[in-house]
Amino acid sequence: MPQALANPPTKIFISDLCELLDEYLDTSQVKEIYRAYLFSAEAHDGQLRKSGEAYIFHPLAATYILAEMHSDTQTLCAAMLHDVIEDTGITKEKLAIEFGKQVAELVDGVSKLSTIEFKTREHAQAENFRKMLLAMNRDIRVIIVKLADRLHNMRTLGAMRLTARRRIARETLEIYAPIANRLGINIIQAELEELSFAALYPKRYQILSHRLQKINNQRSATFNTIKISIEKQLAKYNVKAEVYKRKRNPYRIYFDMCNKKKSSSPNKTFLQLMNICALRIIVDNKADCYLALGAVHSLYKPIFEYFKDYIAIPKSNGYQSIHTLLFGSHGMLIETQIRTIEMHKLSETGITTYDLEHFGNKNNYQTPSYQRASEWLRELLEIRASDSIEFLEHVKTDLFPEEVYVFSPKGEIIQIPKNATAIDFAYAIHTDVGNKCVSAKIDGQYVPLSTQLSSGQTVEVFTAKWARPNPSWLNFAVSAKARSHIRHFLKNLQHDEAIRLGRHMLDKELMAYSLHVDNFSDKQITSLLKAFKCKSMEILLAEIGFGNCMALIVARQFDPTPSLPTETNKPKPLIIKSTENIVVNFANCCHPIPGDHIIGFISAGKGIVIHTAGCKQVIQYKVEKLQPVEWETDIKGEFLVDIQIEVNDQQGVLANVATCITDMKSNIEHVANENNDGRSILKFCISVKNRSHLATIIRHIRRLNSVTRVYRSK
Ligand code: MN
Repeated sequence: MPQALANPPTKIFISDLCELLDEYLDTSQVKEIYRAYLFSAEAHDGQLRKSGEAYIFHPLAATYILAEMHSDTQTLCAAMLHDVIEDTGITKEKLAIEFGKQVAELVDGVSKLSTIEFKTREHAQAENFRKMLLAMNRDIRVIIVKLADRLHNMRTLGAMRLTARRRIARETLEIYAPIANRLGINIIQAELEELSFAALYPKRYQILSHRLQKINNQRSATFNTIKISIEKQLAKYNVKAEVYKRKRNPYRIYFDMCNKKKSSSPNKTFLQLMNICALRIIVDNKADCYLALGAVHSLYKPIFEYFKDYIAIPKSNGYQSIHTLLFGSHGMLIETQIRTIEMHKLSETGITTYDLEHFGNKNNYQTPSYQRASEWLRELLEIRASDSIEFLEHVKTDLFPEEVYVFSPKGEIIQIPKNATAIDFAYAIHTDVGNKCVSAKIDGQYVPLSTQLSSGQTVEVFTAKWARPNPSWLNFAVSAKARSHIRHFLKNLQHDEAIRLGRHMLDKELMAYSLHVDNFSDKQITSLLKAFKCKSMEILLAEIGFGNCMALIVARQFDPTPSLPTETNKPKPLIIKSTENIVVNFANCCHPIPGDHIIGFISAGKGIVIHTAGCKQVIQYKVEKLQPVEWETDIKGEFLVDIQIEVNDQQGVLANVATCITDMKSNIEHVANENNDGRSILKFCISVKNRSHLATIIRHIRRLNSVTRVYRSK
């Protein structure tokens, strides 16, 4: 089992390393690493670290960290050589000749991570992330070497100046520790966190660790009693198990104290946190995990909400364990983790572990956590982030996950981030499902797509062929995948729609000149683009479609005095096809529905806004900004409309009206209630297909008891 790194030997010598390597590698492999040591020592000869010691002690210590976690020969060689390209004159090609292409690639990857310069801090961070991910994607072992490098630098941070110390500690806490966590290397994560915490907040660290020490001493008798009683109970159940007291990490305690709202933890104040006895039960096999669980539950009562079976549903970084929180004796809570030896090894060292015994042959890195890590990277790199900060936002959501697990109707487990909604679920299933999503059910009940999901729910989403992503989804979608797909889709769609609309509007104006966009001569195009400072005809049409440029003015380029419209060249109205069109918006003041007479208003940046012909708003608009429009004859879709219902104030009337509306296949978007001397006015915003659908609904509501008046509000 890997050793805890909290109290590392002060200085590592090559003899220490070789001794450790002998435990799990062949002589030839140890020799190879020794050769890397000699090569590195010679390359760094004469260089000193800030602390004054010879430089070679740094790569040596980094290699030792990885050897403790049983990393493979290539990773160890790369760790030994990791600063050779950057700090000495040696080239990648030379390394490839000496130690093979893969080791050279690894060293090159590590060097590239540390040689980037940036404009702003945020950009720097984002770019750092991106480079790191790209390097990791090439070979994930690059980041393992980088983590060992960073860990040793953190251990020797004392030699740096105060400002540098703080900067490095913050970067470690914000970038490297979360990455270690995502890769499942808990042992490095914990130490990085502790060291950064100590460097960033020396006072708080000192006070917390001091109190932690004191309290541990006070409670050690109680802890022992609990431990012994659990051991006895396990023996009674014939479970072969080792029970360990877990070391509490001051940073984690600080973190929990700062995150009182954290739902997954009952912890609040320091004392409450200290009232927890943290134990780990290690057993031989998976079946014994559940036997052990039975044993402890029969001894102490579990707290239901905090029971987690990460064996059945592993965390996204591959972590497996059973967590259960028990009411112990002496008012003590017992936080118990139950796992097998393999699960424990993986949780400590994640993808660094190179374990021949359990994971097959030498060239096989496909441990379960390795696979998960690679999968995560692939997904992250698929994200089309147009700028670095947006990308960082994505990575951060993915690096600080608090997962929610929900079920598909077939019982499949889908993992989504905390606060994720039905739309995130849809995208988690498949991009096409997300893009075509129209409605969702949670545990059999219809819910809005914006509904937040919680673990254990069964979620079903429904798609339609005509459906498209809606801009408003961005208000509640949280997962990186959903957000990036919605953004991407809308960007393309809006542009295409704007071109289509712009073309139509310009063609309409051109009729007066007997011209057509498609029949422009090259000369006409050149002069138009020059006059309106556009690079291409498409851009000009999009500008018209978005309302940034007026079709009438573009058309007038051809002749300042157009002939009067005749019957044949009279402009045809624009046909409104459906609600899906992004550059066509429906006004909120009058809520036009199919069957209404309508008029379009060209609004800059928004495209066309459709009003009812009689809307008071329209009167204020300039005539040249108005555009004749008509509904398509058999238009499909759902349109919002406001209705008011006057009722006698009677119990249950709201429910009756609501039922009546939904029975008529209409959705209620919004409802408000106004009281006027004993009379109530219910204000509904509902969706309808067209005017006759609305008329039917109104007729049915009118028949209800206690309804006195129903009308569409304008
Ligand atoms: Mn280094």
